[in-house]
Amino acid sequence: MIPIARPLIGEEEKKAVLEVLESGMLAQGPRVREFEEAFARYCGCKYGIATSNGTTALEVALRGFGITRGEVLVPSFTFIATATSVVHAGARPVFVDVDKETFTMDPEDLKKKITPKTRAIIPVHLYGQCAPMDEILEIARENNLVVIEDACQAHGAEYKKKKAGSMGDAGVFSFYPTKNMTTGEGGMVVTSNSEAAERMRLYRNHGQASRYEHVSLGHNYRMTDIAAAIGLEQLKKLEDFIEARRKNANYYNEQLENLDGVRTPIEAPERRHTYNQYTLVVEERDMLASALENKGIGYGIYYPKGCHEQPVFSTRDRLPNTDWLTKRVVSIPVYPGLSQEELETVARTIKSVFS
Ligand SMILES: *Cc1c(COP(=O)(O)O)cnc(C)c1O
Repeated sequence: MIPIARPLIGEEEKKAVLEVLESGMLAQGPRVREFEEAFARYCGCKYGIATSNGTTALEVALRGFGITRGEVLVPSFTFIATATSVVHAGARPVFVDVDKETFTMDPEDLKKKITPKTRAIIPVHLYGQCAPMDEILEIARENNLVVIEDACQAHGAEYKKKKAGSMGDAGVFSFYPTKNMTTGEGGMVVTSNSEAAERMRLYRNHGQASRYEHVSLGHNYRMTDIAAAIGLEQLKKLEDFIEARRKNANYYNEQLENLDGVRTPIEAPERRHTYNQYTLVVEERDMLASALENKGIGYGIYYPKGCHEQPVFSTRDRLPNTDWLTKRVVSIPVYPGLSQEELETVARTIKSVFS
């Protein structure tokens, strides 16, 4: 059995958790503070605000920039949280189509969706590769819009040597076990805007400015020191994790590039793809899926429906590239712990279907 994802937890994480447990300080404390500083530094940002998960981090980021009404432009081809967090913050998501080659936001469609009510854009660095940030940031500047990068799948990804999460007004990360690094559950906002960072800290913790002094509406979206202790150790290993993912992706590229009926993912110019997912585009997806199942190989369909088609939103939008991709994408195991033998099994199984 080869699962679609498998987090790598070592002795370092176990030891760090044990230390927290023995300290008696389990909730948000010194480890969270350290993790925020280390992660923000890694991203090239001044401030980190740790939260309970990536979904709450998205809401916190939006609220930090006052995006609590109006419209927010989001790709439809993403995990549902990108869009629902906009609703939780009080605004309305408007869905934008993606580019078929890179799976990320299409700047041309983005321009068409801007209205007088538009307040912000959330580009998603899907599968670990950055959206076209130059084009998106220029559109944002021209229209005076806030940009919040959904980098939940893109820890360590780069665009023109800049780290994911550091290019917009804020960047948002998730530490769910399937991501490039994990804390079990966890999230983080990074930003270099000190006022926004302060508002985010307040919102995360009941609007509490000092003990039992609540200056604004807030929530309990805090991270625990247990999670942060895991995160600090995972962060030390992140570069190695990413290099292993890139190596695995290269192997698949070599093996699968020239197969008829299979499109391997591209690394667009001036990007560092971190391959949180290695995603093929295939015409015969059902056939491939059953071959993988027969061999006990996990796979994922991210995502079988655009957000614009989910019952929770049920819009009448027409997003042709999103609809086309949702019928054809399939992601295969690419995580760092895969053995050469497992990689070969996956490649061989796919080749047996398409040659
Ligand atoms: C994982 C993910 C999220 C949400 O993160 P959680 O930690 O699961 O709440 C948001 N956006 C994208 C693109 C994601 O992949």
